[in-house]
Amino acid sequence: MHVLVLGAGQLARMMSLAGAPLNIDISAYDVGSENIVHPLTQTVIGKGLGNAIANADVITAEFEHIPHDILETCQQSGKFLPSAQAIKAGGDRRIEKALLDDAGVRNAKYYVIKTREDFDLAIEHVGIPLVLKSALGGYDGKGQWRLKNASQADAIWAEMAECIAATDNQAIVAEEFVPFGREVSLVGARGKDGSVAVYPLAENVHTDGVLSLSTAISDLALQAQAKEMFAAVANTLNYVGVLSLEFFDVDGTLLVNEIAPRVHNSGHWTQQGAETCQFENHLRAVCGMPLGSTKLVRETSMINILGEDTLPPAVLEMEGCHVHWYGKEKRQGRKMGHINVCGDYSGELQRRLCALATVLDRTAFPAVHEFAENFSANK
Ligand code: AMP
Repeated sequence: MHVLVLGAGQLARMMSLAGAPLNIDISAYDVGSENIVHPLTQTVIGKGLGNAIANADVITAEFEHIPHDILETCQQSGKFLPSAQAIKAGGDRRIEKALLDDAGVRNAKYYVIKTREDFDLAIEHVGIPLVLKSALGGYDGKGQWRLKNASQADAIWAEMAECIAATDNQAIVAEEFVPFGREVSLVGARGKDGSVAVYPLAENVHTDGVLSLSTAISDLALQAQAKEMFAAVANTLNYVGVLSLEFFDVDGTLLVNEIAPRVHNSGHWTQQGAETCQFENHLRAVCGMPLGSTKLVRETSMINILGEDTLPPAVLEMEGCHVHWYGKEKRQGRKMGHINVCGDYSGELQRRLCALATVLDRTAFPAVHEFAENFSANK
């Protein structure tokens, strides 16, 4: 089987690593340069979308900000999974919100803004405080504003108007501010036969809007809610592949914040912590194979390595620690790799996270240090 991935980043790389044992061969299409590259070495192996499509049995995507003409061309080939519609929903908050409403899943109240009059109506209908997000191109907390009181409206509108004018078809989605206790996510797969398999929920910590620490958790009531919402969204889209839902947990009630129609950073823990990792399950699904078990096999946390290209040797020495580098050039804040840390039981995982805090730099890994500080404060 030959799978073409739209996007040539770390997610295509990890799909390639997971596909090899199943004889699934991956090439990656760099949407910007139009090069077809090897996902591990980045060696250019071809050029042009037409060639890439002709040589693929299946086409999938590792990101959602893909020009719609490319998505349509892939859709017309009859090889594209999950679908152009699903990828568009992940890349445009207006389509995403409409999808969540269609699927009947709880999400924050919202209003779409194109003009200053719309902004006033959003304030009236949704209320203050408001979280304002660009419909297109926003990720990791970028392209967002917070309106905490009415006196900020003029200044924020000036910035939002500039944002709307800068991109074709841009708009702002105004959302009610959700007073959540924590953020969790559910990664799961839906097969061609409509079967659904979800992983345990992960609890996520963000630092400056970027995921920094993600831990698989066990909470039966929350898991059941999340799975129902997952199935509703996946069935509405007739989805095939791995899909990720990010939630706000408000006192045990989940609201969907956003969806990612792809493998997700908060599912990287499955490489060591689950029977079948998310990358293998995505490939199984899009290649029409049976889904693999999503069972948790070890308590696991994932720590993102942001803007660093080396780690102290003590990390590799530590039992239960697995380092995954993405082979990228170092840049401030860039996702360079991740560490999966495992324990046979949660106390062991917690102890190992505390031990990592003693060897990892505080500025680069604040979430690990905060975990260790909270852990010792609550002992
Ligand atoms: P997003 O890009 O939508 O994931 O937003 C980035 C972060 O902003 C989220 O991880 C939340 O911490 C926060 N956030 C987003 N939307 C809301 C909301 N409606 N209410 C409160 N916080 C939010």
